[in-house]
Amino acid sequence: MKILLIMTLLASVAYAKVEIAVTYKYIEDITKSIGGASVSITTLSKPKEDPHFVIARPSLIAKLRNVDLLILNGGQLEIGWLPPLIDRANNANVFDGAKGFLDLSNQIEMIDTHSSVSQTDGNIHPDGNPHFILDPYNVTIVAKTIMRKLSKLDPKNKDIYQKNYKSFKRKWDKNLTLWDTKMKPFEGRKVIQYHKSFDYFLKRYKMELLDTIEPIAGISPTAKHIQSLIAKIKEEKSDLLIMHDIYHNKKAAKLISAKTELTIIDIPHDVDALRGANSIENLFNTIINKLTQ
Ligand SMILES: [Zn+2]
Repeated sequence: MKILLIMTLLASVAYAKVEIAVTYKYIEDITKSIGGASVSITTLSKPKEDPHFVIARPSLIAKLRNVDLLILNGGQLEIGWLPPLIDRANNANVFDGAKGFLDLSNQIEMIDTHSSVSQTDGNIHPDGNPHFILDPYNVTIVAKTIMRKLSKLDPKNKDIYQKNYKSFKRKWDKNLTLWDTKMKPFEGRKVIQYHKSFDYFLKRYKMELLDTIEPIAGISPTAKHIQSLIAKIKEEKSDLLIMHDIYHNKKAAKLISAKTELTIIDIPHDVDALRGANSIENLFNTIINKLTQ
């Protein structure tokens, strides 16, 4: 009986999964591709939620309490909701700087940082634009960063993580080539956004931001700002479109659209934010199909 118990215990140690909490659905999807059956993942936000202001439900504290690893977007995207959860969970594995704390933004070249700051980024993004995952080239960097962290935390499965990363990258590189071709005609195309959610995407495909509907990040538009935006759009000679995220109110965009006949295109910002965007791959397929259709 004792031997059986010991064998069961050994087996459970050998097959223990790395318990991971991630802040957003896109991180879950990439981590699943790299970690496979060796990891168990809990996602702290809901995909249709505003990523800046996730509701810090008490159940999230319990989820954080027992994990080995916390993977976050970083760049202050979670600053409004995650730090109190980490404090209250009181899990030394995932304190800032601990070996189970992985801030993805540290590996990314951020835009709109202090050295290149524009006034309009002030309020909620003091350290630059954190929406870097919407450049599909950054997805490879994120996948590699996760592979390295898992290999360190769980060295016995290192080969699996590396193999999974290689096959992820092979498939991703094919997508990048395809998306580059599809987006080529959009070079120079000017867009309006509500928030600077898609700047990395615009930069990658050489599109241009004419203006944002919110005057400053995190601040709702005034009637005056909307009027000046409408005037600006009417003066613009080229074809414009409104790329709107799904979590900000669309009232202002609809008003602008009514006065200017611009089309509003709903663009998902995360995996599962809109139907069809059910993986990191289909997030980009959905964005690009919506633009190019
Ligand atoms: Zn933002």
